[in-house]
Amino acid sequence: MKTKVTVIDRDALRDEDLEEAARILKTGGLVAFPTETVYGLGANALDEKAAAKIYAAKGRPSDNPLIAHIASPSDLKPLVKEIPEAAGKLMKAWWPGPLTMIFPKSSLVPGGTTGGLDTVAVRMPDDEVARRLIRLAGVPVAAPSANTSGRPSPTEADHVYQDMDGRIDLILDGGPVGIGVESTIVDVTGPVPILLRPGAVTLEMLEETVGAVEVDPAVTGPVSADVKPRAPGMKYRHYAPKAKLVLVEDEEWSRAHSRDYGRRRTAVSQAVTRTITRLAMEEAKKGRRVGIICTDETVEQYPKSLWVRSLGLRSREETIAHNLFGVLREFDSLEVEVIYSESFSRDHLGQAIMNRLSKAAGYHILKV
Ligand code: AMP
Ligand code: MG
Repeated sequence: MKTKVTVIDRDALRDEDLEEAARILKTGGLVAFPTETVYGLGANALDEKAAAKIYAAKGRPSDNPLIAHIASPSDLKPLVKEIPEAAGKLMKAWWPGPLTMIFPKSSLVPGGTTGGLDTVAVRMPDDEVARRLIRLAGVPVAAPSANTSGRPSPTEADHVYQDMDGRIDLILDGGPVGIGVESTIVDVTGPVPILLRPGAVTLEMLEETVGAVEVDPAVTGPVSADVKPRAPGMKYRHYAPKAKLVLVEDEEWSRAHSRDYGRRRTAVSQAVTRTITRLAMEEAKKGRRVGIICTDETVEQYPKSLWVRSLGLRSREETIAHNLFGVLREFDSLEVEVIYSESFSRDHLGQAIMNRLSKAAGYHILKV
């Protein structure tokens, strides 16, 4: 299959620019498109055969359900059995935006998109290209991240091209995404909402909207083989660079600074930077290609002889989220063999960053 790439001019966006993509979706094909979180790999969510193509293109296990993307809140009703009260409040507060909710599914949604579950995940994205495309297609669009299963999610059209060239019909290039980590996922089917995956709509924001929110254990730690996680996707190794990745964390420092939200983001643990430097130099002496993931606040402290990459400003965590997957992909192309990474706060947006980094590291976290 030949994969076409169409560059979108966001400043002069016209329906004509999206018509081919919409037609492909309507007729059961695959289109990658930008959303505000990461690039999605879209297919008609109501067409099992189209959804099956997503699994094939990504090499995704078929029990890992897809998120249905809609263009307006009124598109939700036909997909679900009911809209729980908490969901109503969350929709009002956060849609369109990076929040996915899990509902009991209606019979309209085929098991082929939900991994055989009787629930369906739904999100209304904030990206104008995404929403107009979905509206033009006239169907809900199942769209997991447009990467090969297990690789870091794509935050630019070129990342999609690297993984999907020859596997899908079309890539809409709408430039780099805004947020850079996937949507927050909340299960609203029970009495208390449960956070299944942290994202840019943070736990603290959710609690402000609906009160108490539980956190699924898969958010913070590894899922053991005998447990069935609520979000089936959480059991798979994810976001992983080819190199061995080790996170270095100073827990005491993190705790001390998390009382001080806002100001703490500029503080850096010297124990972390020193440990990373020592371990990285030891590996380099053995002849390995070593990478370091750090921040603008610390980048000057590391040896220039190593591959040192800053994710952005610790004082502006949204920059860290924005650059995370791109840096992991860059290390893949540099064929780095070992990566040491600084760690981040475990609350607010830091929870989403640490969730992705910990998974990418296979939970290999060195405490100093
Ligand atoms: P991705 O599309 O790559 O961002 O992954 C979608 C995530 O949503 C995976 O972790 C899925 O397990 C999760 N998910 C999708 N549908 C459901 C559902 N019905 N119940 C629980 N988790 C879901
Ligand atoms: Mg994904």
